[in-house]
Amino acid sequence: MNDVIIIGGSFAGLAAALQLGRARRRVTVLDTELPRNRFAGHSHGLLGHDHKPPLAILSESRAQLARYPAISLVTARAEGISGSIDDFSVLTADGERFRARRLILSYGVVDQVPDVPGFAECWGKSIVPCPYCDGFEAAEQHWGLVWSGLQSHNQARLFLDWTDKLTVFADGHDIPTDIRAALEHRNVPVVDGRITEIAHHRGHLTTVNLDSGSNVAVDILFAHPRNRPSASLHESLGLATVETPAGITLKVDERRQTSVSGIYAAGDLTTPFLPSVTQATSQGAMAGIFAQQSMLA
Ligand SMILES: Cc1cc2nc3c(=O)[nH]c(=O)nc-3n(C[C@H](O)[C@H](O)[C@H](O)COP(=O)(O)OP(=O)(O)OC[C@H]3O[C@@H](n4cnc5c(N)ncnc54)[C@H](O)[C@@H]3O)c2cc1C
Repeated sequence: MNDVIIIGGSFAGLAAALQLGRARRRVTVLDTELPRNRFAGHSHGLLGHDHKPPLAILSESRAQLARYPAISLVTARAEGISGSIDDFSVLTADGERFRARRLILSYGVVDQVPDVPGFAECWGKSIVPCPYCDGFEAAEQHWGLVWSGLQSHNQARLFLDWTDKLTVFADGHDIPTDIRAALEHRNVPVVDGRITEIAHHRGHLTTVNLDSGSNVAVDILFAHPRNRPSASLHESLGLATVETPAGITLKVDERRQTSVSGIYAAGDLTTPFLPSVTQATSQGAMAGIFAQQSMLA
């Protein structure tokens, strides 16, 4: 029997495994190797690993975990969970069954990129969600922002710290008149109409094409598609969730325990605002520590 099974072995899951392995707890990490930022050439903002390809950070992390004999990394998709605290059972898609006293859910989220030609090809390259991740490299260039709701107004104000050339794409949303006036006051034009296509060259966008017939050139486009958890295991477990403008996250307490005793969670699956590798690794480390401390004799 494992002490802990971690479902999702990316930034949050491996950080949890590291703490548990160092505490000499027996851990199995199940992972399908599809981290959210795999489309990005570089990951930014993680101290000590800035401007490295995300997959390189993960592969270095996995190599470091090899020092800890009690950690087992398994490439497999968790499909079902049964049992309760002190005896959970996880079934993988290959039909293998693992048992553990505690679970850590760190299976992240999937961005639901819109079905607009060119969007998926540019995602992570020239269409990105976060200025802290990709803003520095594109500072002072012409930025576009796809409006996704009232929160986009704050994003537009935030972006002006990186550039004074910003265009907002309404993309079919009704932007209130007072907000339009505030944007105009900051020299931020609003382009109406729906986005019908992202014209690009190998993922590097050239123009945002609209149903009005106009094609607007920008250097980088920021967009915030809704996301959903990468698996539905939390649903079958009946875990409490929280609604956010971007999607749902799992509810956790101050010790990262979900609404079910013995099940902990970390990473984007639990992060409503500004998800990042830094937050995921920090939360993962704490989930590992709290899970371990819950098993003391
Ligand atoms: C385009 C883009 C660029 C980004 N750039 C940055 C950046 O520069 N800096 C930064 O700090 N953040 C960046 N982020 C955010 C960053 O990707 C996330 O915050 C981070 O990946 C969250 O880590 P996580 O471990 O919670 O989830 P993830 O990294 O998404 O990992 C979840 C893991 O769980 C696995 N999994 C899913 N379902 C199952 C299952 N049923 N069984 C087993 N395994 C499963 C997946 O394969 C994956 O390996 C970016 C995000 C995007 C979309």
